[in-house]
Amino acid sequence: MAMVSMRQLLDEAAAGGYGVGAFNVNNMEQIQAIMEAARETSSPVIIQASRGARSYTNDRFLYHLMEAAVELYPEIPVALHQDHGNSPATCISAIEQGFTSVMMDGSLLDDGKTPADFAYNIQVTREVVEHAHAVGVTVEGELGTLGGIEDGVGSGEIHLTDPDQAVEFVEQTGIDALAVAIGTSHGAYKFSRKPDGKVLAMNLIQEIHEKLPTTHLVMHGSSSVPKELIDIINEYGGEIRPTWGVPVEEIQLGIRHGVRKINVDTDSRLAITGAIRKAMAEDPGEFDPRSYLKPARAAMQQVIAQRMTQFGQAGHAGDYEPRSLTEMRDFYAGATA
Ligand SMILES: [Zn+2]
Repeated sequence: MAMVSMRQLLDEAAAGGYGVGAFNVNNMEQIQAIMEAARETSSPVIIQASRGARSYTNDRFLYHLMEAAVELYPEIPVALHQDHGNSPATCISAIEQGFTSVMMDGSLLDDGKTPADFAYNIQVTREVVEHAHAVGVTVEGELGTLGGIEDGVGSGEIHLTDPDQAVEFVEQTGIDALAVAIGTSHGAYKFSRKPDGKVLAMNLIQEIHEKLPTTHLVMHGSSSVPKELIDIINEYGGEIRPTWGVPVEEIQLGIRHGVRKINVDTDSRLAITGAIRKAMAEDPGEFDPRSYLKPARAAMQQVIAQRMTQFGQAGHAGDYEPRSLTEMRDFYAGATA
Protein backbone atom coordinates (compact mmCIF):
# COMPACT_ATOMS: atom_id res chain seq x y z
CA MET A 1 0.00 0.00 0.00
CA ALA A 2 1.26 3.45 -0.81
CA MET A 3 0.82 6.27 1.67
CA VAL A 4 -2.74 7.55 1.62
CA SER A 5 -4.16 11.04 1.94
CA MET A 6 -5.18 12.14 5.39
CA ARG A 7 -8.53 13.27 3.96
CA GLN A 8 -9.45 9.69 3.14
CA LEU A 9 -8.44 8.46 6.62
CA LEU A 10 -10.55 11.17 8.24
CA ASP A 11 -13.57 10.70 5.94
CA GLU A 12 -13.54 7.00 6.81
CA ALA A 13 -13.19 7.84 10.51
CA ALA A 14 -16.19 10.18 10.28
CA ALA A 15 -18.25 7.48 8.58
CA GLY A 16 -17.20 4.97 11.24
CA GLY A 17 -17.59 7.37 14.17
CA TYR A 18 -14.04 7.07 15.48
CA GLY A 19 -10.89 9.20 15.83
CA VAL A 20 -7.39 8.66 14.42
CA GLY A 21 -4.27 9.35 16.45
CA ALA A 22 -1.58 11.47 14.77
CA PHE A 23 1.72 10.55 16.33
CA ASN A 24 4.94 12.56 15.97
CA VAL A 25 8.20 10.96 14.90
CA ASN A 26 11.87 11.92 14.81
CA ASN A 27 13.62 8.60 14.17
CA MET A 28 13.36 4.99 13.04
CA GLU A 29 12.42 3.54 16.42
CA GLN A 30 9.39 5.83 16.75
CA ILE A 31 8.14 4.92 13.26
CA GLN A 32 8.61 1.23 14.09
CA ALA A 33 6.76 1.61 17.41
CA ILE A 34 3.78 3.23 15.69
CA MET A 35 3.62 0.72 12.84
CA GLU A 36 3.86 -2.23 15.25
CA ALA A 37 1.09 -0.72 17.36
CA ALA A 38 -1.00 -0.24 14.20
CA ARG A 39 -0.48 -3.87 13.22
CA GLU A 40 -1.18 -5.11 16.74
CA THR A 41 -4.50 -3.23 16.82
CA SER A 42 -5.26 -3.25 13.06
CA SER A 43 -5.44 0.55 12.94
CA PRO A 44 -5.16 3.15 10.18
CA VAL A 45 -2.74 5.81 11.37
CA ILE A 46 -1.32 9.30 10.81
CA ILE A 47 2.41 9.79 11.26
CA GLN A 48 3.45 13.41 11.54
CA ALA A 49 6.69 15.35 11.49
CA SER A 50 7.21 18.88 12.75
CA ARG A 51 9.64 21.25 11.08
CA GLY A 52 12.08 20.34 13.85
CA ALA A 53 11.67 16.65 13.04
CA ARG A 54 12.26 17.27 9.35
CA SER A 55 15.49 19.09 10.03
CA TYR A 56 16.61 16.53 12.66
CA THR A 57 16.05 13.54 10.36
CA ASN A 58 16.73 15.25 7.07
CA ASP A 59 13.68 14.91 4.80
CA ARG A 60 15.17 12.12 2.71
CA PHE A 61 15.86 9.84 5.69
CA LEU A 62 12.34 10.47 6.93
CA TYR A 63 10.77 9.80 3.56
CA HIS A 64 12.65 6.54 3.01
CA LEU A 65 11.89 5.34 6.53
CA MET A 66 8.22 5.92 5.70
CA GLU A 67 8.64 4.05 2.40
CA ALA A 68 10.00 1.13 4.42
CA ALA A 69 7.03 1.38 6.77
CA VAL A 70 4.44 1.12 3.99
CA GLU A 71 6.40 -1.70 2.35
CA LEU A 72 6.67 -3.73 5.56
CA TYR A 73 3.12 -3.03 6.79
CA PRO A 74 1.10 -3.20 3.57
CA GLU A 75 -2.19 -3.77 5.41
CA ILE A 76 -2.00 -0.43 7.30
CA PRO A 77 -3.33 2.78 5.69
CA VAL A 78 -0.88 5.48 6.74
CA ALA A 79 -0.75 9.21 6.01
CA LEU A 80 2.42 11.30 6.36
CA HIS A 81 1.54 14.74 7.68
CA GLN A 82 3.50 17.99 8.14
CA ASP A 83 2.72 19.19 11.67
CA HIS A 84 2.56 23.00 12.14
CA GLY A 85 3.80 24.22 8.78
CA ASN A 86 4.78 27.86 9.43
CA SER A 87 4.50 29.13 5.84
CA PRO A 88 3.24 28.11 2.41
CA ALA A 89 6.91 27.43 1.46
CA THR A 90 7.27 24.85 4.26
CA CYS A 91 4.04 23.12 3.22
CA ILE A 92 5.00 23.09 -0.45
CA SER A 93 8.42 21.63 0.36
CA ALA A 94 6.70 18.89 2.40
CA ILE A 95 4.46 18.05 -0.56
CA GLU A 96 7.54 17.90 -2.79
CA GLN A 97 9.11 15.48 -0.29
CA GLY A 98 6.14 13.10 -0.54
CA PHE A 99 3.97 14.13 2.43
CA THR A 100 0.30 13.27 1.80
CA SER A 101 -1.02 15.94 4.16
CA VAL A 102 0.11 19.31 5.48
CA MET A 103 -0.90 21.67 8.24
CA MET A 104 -0.69 25.35 7.44
CA ASP A 105 -0.66 26.99 10.85
CA GLY A 106 -1.56 30.54 9.91
CA SER A 107 -2.69 31.30 13.44
CA LEU A 108 0.93 32.36 13.94
CA LEU A 109 3.24 34.38 11.71
CA ASP A 110 6.05 32.48 9.98
CA ASP A 111 8.29 32.89 13.04
CA GLY A 112 5.99 30.29 14.64
CA LYS A 113 5.55 32.55 17.67
CA THR A 114 3.67 35.76 16.95
CA PRO A 115 -0.15 35.48 16.78
CA ALA A 116 -1.34 36.42 13.28
CA ASP A 117 -4.54 38.19 12.30
CA PHE A 118 -7.53 36.52 10.68
CA ALA A 119 -6.92 37.96 7.19
CA TYR A 120 -3.32 36.69 7.17
CA ASN A 121 -4.45 33.25 8.32
CA ILE A 122 -7.05 33.03 5.54
CA GLN A 123 -4.60 34.22 2.90
CA VAL A 124 -1.74 31.78 3.65
CA THR A 125 -4.07 28.85 4.30
CA ARG A 126 -5.98 29.37 1.06
CA GLU A 127 -2.70 29.56 -0.82
CA VAL A 128 -1.65 26.16 0.59
CA VAL A 129 -5.08 24.63 -0.15
CA GLU A 130 -4.77 25.67 -3.80
CA HIS A 131 -1.34 24.04 -4.12
CA ALA A 132 -2.13 20.93 -2.09
CA HIS A 133 -5.55 20.03 -3.48
CA ALA A 134 -4.19 20.34 -7.02
CA VAL A 135 -2.03 17.28 -6.24
CA GLY A 136 -4.51 15.44 -3.99
CA VAL A 137 -2.84 16.39 -0.70
CA THR A 138 -4.90 17.17 2.42
CA VAL A 139 -4.75 20.48 4.34
CA GLU A 140 -5.30 21.16 8.02
CA GLY A 141 -5.67 24.77 9.20
CA GLU A 142 -5.76 26.27 12.67
CA LEU A 143 -7.90 29.00 14.14
CA GLY A 144 -7.19 30.30 17.63
CA THR A 145 -3.92 29.55 19.39
CA LEU A 146 -2.88 26.76 21.71
CA GLY A 147 -0.91 27.19 24.88
CA GLY A 148 2.63 26.00 25.46
CA ILE A 149 5.67 25.96 23.25
CA GLU A 150 7.06 22.80 21.67
CA ASP A 151 9.80 22.42 19.07
CA GLY A 152 9.95 26.23 19.15
CA VAL A 153 6.32 26.52 17.99
CA GLY A 154 3.74 28.49 19.94
CA SER A 155 3.02 31.96 21.24
CA GLY A 156 2.56 30.71 24.80
CA GLU A 157 -0.87 32.35 24.88
CA ILE A 158 -4.23 30.62 24.54
CA HIS A 159 -6.90 32.19 22.31
CA LEU A 160 -9.95 29.95 22.07
CA THR A 161 -11.49 29.35 18.64
CA ASP A 162 -14.57 31.44 17.87
CA PRO A 163 -17.26 29.18 16.30
CA ASP A 164 -18.68 31.82 13.93
CA GLN A 165 -15.20 32.78 12.77
CA ALA A 166 -14.51 29.06 12.23
CA VAL A 167 -17.38 28.87 9.74
CA GLU A 168 -16.03 31.85 7.80
CA PHE A 169 -12.50 30.43 7.93
CA VAL A 170 -13.51 27.06 6.50
CA GLU A 171 -15.65 28.69 3.78
CA GLN A 172 -12.86 31.07 2.76
CA THR A 173 -10.03 28.53 2.76
CA GLY A 174 -11.54 25.19 1.71
CA ILE A 175 -9.49 23.23 4.29
CA ASP A 176 -10.20 19.57 5.01
CA ALA A 177 -9.52 19.66 8.74
CA LEU A 178 -9.58 22.38 11.38
CA ALA A 179 -7.40 22.48 14.49
CA VAL A 180 -9.39 24.11 17.25
CA ALA A 181 -8.05 25.84 20.34
CA ILE A 182 -10.08 24.71 23.34
CA GLY A 183 -7.57 25.29 26.12
CA THR A 184 -5.06 22.51 25.46
CA SER A 185 -1.33 23.17 25.33
CA HIS A 186 1.69 21.57 23.75
CA GLY A 187 4.29 19.90 25.94
CA ALA A 188 4.08 17.99 29.23
CA TYR A 189 2.82 20.82 31.47
CA LYS A 190 -0.73 21.28 30.23
CA PHE A 191 -2.72 21.64 33.43
CA SER A 192 -1.81 22.08 37.10
CA ARG A 193 -4.80 19.95 38.16
CA LYS A 194 -7.19 17.52 36.49
CA PRO A 195 -8.87 19.73 33.87
CA ASP A 196 -12.58 20.49 34.08
CA GLY A 197 -14.93 22.58 31.91
CA LYS A 198 -13.33 25.81 33.18
CA VAL A 199 -9.98 25.11 31.55
CA LEU A 200 -10.91 22.63 28.82
CA ALA A 201 -13.71 24.04 26.65
CA MET A 202 -15.14 20.81 25.23
CA ASN A 203 -18.45 22.64 24.70
CA LEU A 204 -16.72 24.66 21.96
CA ILE A 205 -16.09 21.46 20.00
CA GLN A 206 -19.75 20.61 20.14
CA GLU A 207 -20.70 24.11 18.99
CA ILE A 208 -18.19 24.17 16.13
CA HIS A 209 -19.21 20.68 15.00
CA GLU A 210 -22.87 21.73 14.86
CA LYS A 211 -21.94 24.68 12.62
CA LEU A 212 -19.42 22.71 10.52
CA PRO A 213 -20.69 19.12 10.46
CA THR A 214 -18.52 18.03 7.51
CA THR A 215 -15.21 19.61 8.61
CA HIS A 216 -12.92 17.20 10.45
CA LEU A 217 -11.88 18.67 13.79
CA VAL A 218 -8.38 18.25 15.20
CA MET A 219 -7.31 18.29 18.84
CA HIS A 220 -3.70 19.37 19.33
CA GLY A 221 -1.71 18.89 22.52
CA SER A 222 -3.81 15.88 23.41
CA SER A 223 -1.42 13.66 25.27
CA SER A 224 -2.94 12.33 28.46
CA VAL A 225 0.38 12.56 30.37
CA PRO A 226 -0.22 9.42 32.46
CA LYS A 227 1.11 9.57 36.01
CA GLU A 228 2.59 6.09 35.71
CA LEU A 229 4.89 7.23 32.88
CA ILE A 230 6.03 10.28 34.86
CA ASP A 231 6.60 8.09 37.91
CA ILE A 232 9.01 5.84 35.98
CA ILE A 233 11.05 8.86 34.83
CA ASN A 234 11.20 10.32 38.33
CA GLU A 235 11.96 6.95 39.95
CA TYR A 236 15.08 6.68 37.81
CA GLY A 237 16.51 10.14 38.38
CA GLY A 238 14.23 12.35 36.28
CA GLU A 239 12.64 15.57 37.47
CA ILE A 240 9.18 15.97 36.00
CA ARG A 241 6.92 18.20 38.10
CA PRO A 242 3.33 17.09 38.86
CA THR A 243 1.22 17.77 35.77
CA TRP A 244 -2.01 16.76 34.05
CA GLY A 245 -2.77 16.12 30.39
CA VAL A 246 -6.04 15.76 28.49
CA PRO A 247 -8.06 12.90 30.02
CA VAL A 248 -8.88 10.14 27.51
CA GLU A 249 -12.59 10.44 28.35
CA GLU A 250 -12.55 14.11 27.23
CA ILE A 251 -10.97 13.08 23.92
CA GLN A 252 -13.65 10.41 23.53
CA LEU A 253 -16.30 13.07 24.15
CA GLY A 254 -14.65 15.14 21.39
CA ILE A 255 -14.73 12.15 19.04
CA ARG A 256 -18.50 11.94 19.55
CA HIS A 257 -18.65 15.57 18.35
CA GLY A 258 -16.57 15.61 15.18
CA VAL A 259 -12.98 15.26 16.39
CA ARG A 260 -11.25 12.94 13.89
CA LYS A 261 -7.54 13.65 14.42
CA ILE A 262 -5.90 13.62 17.82
CA ASN A 263 -2.29 14.79 18.13
CA VAL A 264 -0.14 12.88 20.59
CA ASP A 265 3.57 13.46 21.08
CA THR A 266 4.33 13.99 24.78
CA ASP A 267 3.04 10.55 25.79
CA SER A 268 5.51 8.91 23.39
CA ARG A 269 8.35 11.08 24.68
CA LEU A 270 7.54 10.20 28.30
CA ALA A 271 7.33 6.46 27.54
CA ILE A 272 10.67 6.49 25.70
CA THR A 273 12.50 8.56 28.31
CA GLY A 274 11.25 6.45 31.22
CA ALA A 275 12.25 3.21 29.52
CA ILE A 276 15.73 4.52 28.69
CA ARG A 277 16.32 5.83 32.23
CA LYS A 278 15.16 2.53 33.69
CA ALA A 279 17.31 0.39 31.38
CA MET A 280 20.41 2.48 32.03
CA ALA A 281 19.86 2.53 35.79
CA GLU A 282 19.29 -1.19 35.99
CA ASP A 283 22.38 -2.11 34.01
CA PRO A 284 24.95 0.69 34.31
CA GLY A 285 27.69 -1.47 32.81
CA GLU A 286 25.81 -1.91 29.52
CA PHE A 287 26.77 0.30 26.58
CA ASP A 288 25.03 -1.28 23.60
CA PRO A 289 22.46 1.35 22.45
CA ARG A 290 20.05 -1.48 21.62
CA SER A 291 19.88 -2.34 25.32
CA TYR A 292 17.91 0.86 25.98
CA LEU A 293 16.44 1.63 22.55
CA LYS A 294 14.59 -1.71 22.39
CA PRO A 295 12.70 -1.17 25.68
CA ALA A 296 12.12 2.46 24.64
CA ARG A 297 10.51 1.35 21.39
CA ALA A 298 8.42 -1.26 23.22
CA ALA A 299 7.22 1.32 25.78
CA MET A 300 6.17 3.73 23.03
CA GLN A 301 4.38 0.92 21.17
CA GLN A 302 2.43 0.08 24.30
CA VAL A 303 1.14 3.61 24.90
CA ILE A 304 0.33 4.12 21.19
CA ALA A 305 -1.59 0.83 20.96
CA GLN A 306 -3.57 1.86 24.03
CA ARG A 307 -4.46 5.22 22.45
CA MET A 308 -5.47 3.53 19.17
CA THR A 309 -7.91 1.36 21.08
CA GLN A 310 -9.21 4.31 23.11
CA PHE A 311 -9.68 6.53 20.03
CA GLY A 312 -11.65 3.75 18.28
CA GLN A 313 -9.42 3.41 15.21
CA ALA A 314 -8.46 -0.14 16.23
CA GLY A 315 -9.93 -2.78 13.93
CA HIS A 316 -10.47 -0.36 11.01
CA ALA A 317 -7.27 -0.84 8.98
CA GLY A 318 -8.92 -3.17 6.50
CA ASP A 319 -12.19 -1.28 6.05
CA TYR A 320 -11.38 0.40 2.75
CA GLU A 321 -9.29 0.47 -0.40
CA PRO A 322 -6.81 3.34 -0.38
CA ARG A 323 -7.39 6.03 -2.98
CA SER A 324 -4.36 7.37 -4.83
CA LEU A 325 -3.41 11.04 -4.64
CA THR A 326 -4.42 11.28 -8.31
CA GLU A 327 -7.93 10.10 -7.38
CA MET A 328 -7.95 12.62 -4.54
CA ARG A 329 -6.87 15.37 -6.96
CA ASP A 330 -9.84 14.49 -9.19
CA PHE A 331 -12.10 14.43 -6.13
CA TYR A 332 -11.08 18.01 -5.26
CA ALA A 333 -11.34 19.15 -8.88
CA GLY A 334 -14.90 17.76 -8.97
CA ALA A 335 -15.78 19.33 -5.64
CA THR A 336 -14.76 22.80 -6.76
CA ALA A 337 -16.00 22.60 -10.37
ZN1 LIG B 1 0.08 21.17 17.63
